[in-house]
Amino acid sequence: MSNDDLHSSLSAVVDGPEAGDVSRETSDAFSAFDEGDDSPLAREMIETERRRRELSEADFPHPARTRIFAVTNQKGGVGKTTTSVNVAAALANKGANVLVIDADPQGNASTALGVEHRAGTPSIYDVLLDDVPMARVAQQCPDIPTLWCVPATIDLAGADIELVSVVRREYRLHDALERLMQGPGKGLDYVFIDCPPSLGLLTLNAMVIAQEMLIPIQCEYYALEGLTQLIKTVEMVRKHLNPQLSLSTIVLTMYDARTNLAREVAHEVRSHFPQQTLEQTVPRSVRVSEAPSFGRTVISHDPHSSGAVAYMAVAKEIAERGRRQEEESGEA
Ligand code: ADP
Ligand code: MG
Repeated sequence: MSNDDLHSSLSAVVDGPEAGDVSRETSDAFSAFDEGDDSPLAREMIETERRRRELSEADFPHPARTRIFAVTNQKGGVGKTTTSVNVAAALANKGANVLVIDADPQGNASTALGVEHRAGTPSIYDVLLDDVPMARVAQQCPDIPTLWCVPATIDLAGADIELVSVVRREYRLHDALERLMQGPGKGLDYVFIDCPPSLGLLTLNAMVIAQEMLIPIQCEYYALEGLTQLIKTVEMVRKHLNPQLSLSTIVLTMYDARTNLAREVAHEVRSHFPQQTLEQTVPRSVRVSEAPSFGRTVISHDPHSSGAVAYMAVAKEIAERGRRQEEESGEA
């Protein structure tokens, strides 16, 4: 890459709203920086690359038993799917056996993981409504051999209503996943259930089998609205359906440290949820948003980008918190 190319890609980054992003092309061109280049952008890129190296050399602890996360927030567009697939991919890249269950009729997680999900493809719909074993519909992701996905197709769009009249309607996912984990899914380290933007029966099914809730919060004005209702739902589930459910993890997404609003929202979330909120935030990153159009997670699409590095750090924090929790409860 010539210095001219480097300059134009850097100015695109500086001029655009995505100053934190480091593309593969630019990161490959680190050598083009002068030793003495001390601009904020150069420093940020060098720091991102340093963290990437550190994270790629680090071991992530594997859990003693399968950790099941419901990735929920009834607001749409806050980063549920992006967080599900990228955290899953980062953990799987470190050798963990990971399953992503796409429980949103839009099928965005299936798209991002590069698995077939055209109408009619065996999917979570067949599992929930027709008792098809999960092992029969799960697909291996093309990029990462230890990452699996139970896809969602558009057939799922009516499921919230169709489930109403089904026996054990809140336990359909519970029963299917338990069955999987007693058989071919015995060795799973993590399951992430990517929920739709509602608190309907699909989300409820996820909360009934999960031990942990992972809530992405986008750092913007209405971020905390709706959270009270979500927490009430968790309390209700804990009381009546699943006493082991805990709101263990909050991740701040699309965080732009340059705006006061993002900093204020982050501060407020941390003051309400000091234990749950991860230290690592996820910045806005072009690479993160474009990765699904290649049928890939950002971890495979551009591991050097600021978004990929952030999601790797989020995954490490989740793995390490789990290990600490096990040690405290005497499980490890
Ligand atoms: P949800 O599943 O909660 O509806 P998504 O994960 O689909 O939210 O994210 C909503 C939109 O924001 C998508 O277009 C996604 O690509 C984009 N997005 C999410 N996280 C980031 C990020 N860190 N940087 C840039 N775009 C992002
Ligand atoms: Mg989604």
